[in-house]
Amino acid sequence: MTLLLMHGGASNVESDVFKRKQNAVSSALGKISDFSIDALDLVELAVEYMERDPHLNAGYGSILQLDGRARMDAGICTSDRKYAGILQIEQTKTPIKIARKLMDAAYHSILCGEGARKFSDENGFPRENAITVEQMEAFEESCKTFPEISYQSFSRDMSDLNKKKLGTVGAVAIDKKGRMAAACSTGGTKYCFPGRVGDTAIYGAGVYCSEHVAVAMTGEGDKVLRRMTARLVEDLFLKSGNLHQAVTDAAQDLERHENGYCGIIAVSSDRQYAHAHNTAYMAFDQHAA
Ligand code: ASP
Repeated sequence: MTLLLMHGGASNVESDVFKRKQNAVSSALGKISDFSIDALDLVELAVEYMERDPHLNAGYGSILQLDGRARMDAGICTSDRKYAGILQIEQTKTPIKIARKLMDAAYHSILCGEGARKFSDENGFPRENAITVEQMEAFEESCKTFPEISYQSFSRDMSDLNKKKLGTVGAVAIDKKGRMAAACSTGGTKYCFPGRVGDTAIYGAGVYCSEHVAVAMTGEGDKVLRRMTARLVEDLFLKSGNLHQAVTDAAQDLERHENGYCGIIAVSSDRQYAHAHNTAYMAFDQHAA
């Protein structure tokens, strides 16, 4: 049996925007015709389809940072402890494919900014526009709140703004042979200072895979980073043996310690699968057959 879980971000508002995200996740799942491929290829494909959908905040359709540029993060990892992350890449619709390429190259674990761009060019990935009209309009709206980019204006707590608007994408899978993988991709959160990196591509924070579990997160990344929430799921799972309990408790941990919002999807080596979120909604779908 192959299990695949996918998310398209968590949110506290059930708006039309959220419904479009839910449809986008289900439509990405619907595009996958072969579930017999290995877990790694499956999570990469699932995330790629979601990145290509302009309604989701990853790849094409990413939120713009406060200087009007789309800098994206993506991470991918496997149960045999392979991992790579691409940080702050621009001009691509599919950062996850670049992360996968870096993982297969098996030397560095993370490349960011200029280096990530060079790696992408060298490997023949096309330079593509990742900015949609909708996100450009949202950016113009942000400019009214932050007419100039100064870090000082960030001194107030941004979480009230961000808990309404999350939208990273992620996937976890276990295949017939028991191999697991996790992948995540994001344009970040609303109101990101240029160059800000969140949890999404960071091993153990927003994405994690070991011989025990595969975990993909969405949520307030600055807070998730401080709790290492994806890795915490593994710790909790190893204690209780109950994956559903582990993801629920990990989401509660973030709320208790950081007043943070998140969504989590996970599978375990004994083929449990679970999702949890402490937001009102999470765009989510799954295949289990
Ligand atoms: N975790 C992402 C970040 O902080 C945002 C999200 O999940 O929507 O960059």
